[in-house]
Amino acid sequence: AKRQMRGRTVIFSSELEAEIRSRGVIENLLRTSDFATEMDLVFQPIVDAMSERTNGFEVLSRWNSPRLGLVSPADFIPAAERIGLIRPLTQALLVRALAAAKGWPDDIRVSFNLSAHDVCASDGILPLIAIINASGVAPRRIDFEITETAVTFDFVRAQQAIATLKAMGCGISLDDFGTGYSSLSHVHRLPLDKIKIDRSFVADVNENPVSHKIIKSLTGLCADMEIACVVEGVETRAQLDSLRRLGCDFIQGYYFAKPMPGHAIADYLTVEAKR
Ligand code: C2E
Ligand code: CA
Ligand code: CA
Ligand code: CA
Repeated sequence: AKRQMRGRTVIFSSELEAEIRSRGVIENLLRTSDFATEMDLVFQPIVDAMSERTNGFEVLSRWNSPRLGLVSPADFIPAAERIGLIRPLTQALLVRALAAAKGWPDDIRVSFNLSAHDVCASDGILPLIAIINASGVAPRRIDFEITETAVTFDFVRAQQAIATLKAMGCGISLDDFGTGYSSLSHVHRLPLDKIKIDRSFVADVNENPVSHKIIKSLTGLCADMEIACVVEGVETRAQLDSLRRLGCDFIQGYYFAKPMPGHAIADYLTVEAKR
């Protein structure tokens, strides 16, 4: 496999790649990594389906390991969870995400992913609250994305953490909706502002009548419950058009933009405003 790393192209045999990226190696390198220099944030617009204007940006993390090159969050976030580093990592990322959001226009939201360990910890979410309070970003501009898996992990604690964030004025989004189990039971027991429908349903919305029906029933459910519906993974105009007809409120995906570095946001919003 060829892999782009900061302009260099490195060739790995797939076996070697599997080997050096094995769980144990990722865990060991993560343990000794310097979050401040090795972790990056990128930002992907969440766009109002009707106006096609950016409503906010989701924060996605990137690990640029000196040894491994770019490692996907799908690999290093679970590793950080396994080795007990996710909470300090989340805190370091939230500080930087909110510092970035502070420089954006006041009507642009910031959406931040939390893991199960962040919301179910015994000492609760006090460190996160302290970071929000110190950030200078109004809590009403912040959404926290929480997966069903995180909520299922320890429902009572998750519910408490969510209620606390909500009471501060933050928004709560249920992420990856439709991929977990007992999804619907969580919807009415949590104070949700948004539901994010997983991109697996979006990919074939125009080819597969089942995906179409699932999204239709989910948008209907969201409308009934006065929860905004976000769809991620939208890559084509045809998908966007169908999702608008199906009543999705917000759209995220490569069709509008891939995740971008923080320094690109001001220009992105300027270009969008002229469109
Ligand atoms: P997610 O929260 O579901 O984030 C959306 C993922 O879909 C991102 O992958 C994004 O780059 C990708 N994506 C967005 N639009 C499109 C599209 O149109 N087509 C396709 N094919 N993909 C699209 P990414 O950045 O690799 O992140 C993977 C997962 O890692 C995230 O899934 C999230 O669960 C987790 N993650 C990322 N950053 C963080 C973080 O800072 N903290 C925590 N706890 N989890 C994170
Ligand atoms: Ca997310
Ligand atoms: Ca998601
Ligand atoms: Ca997902």
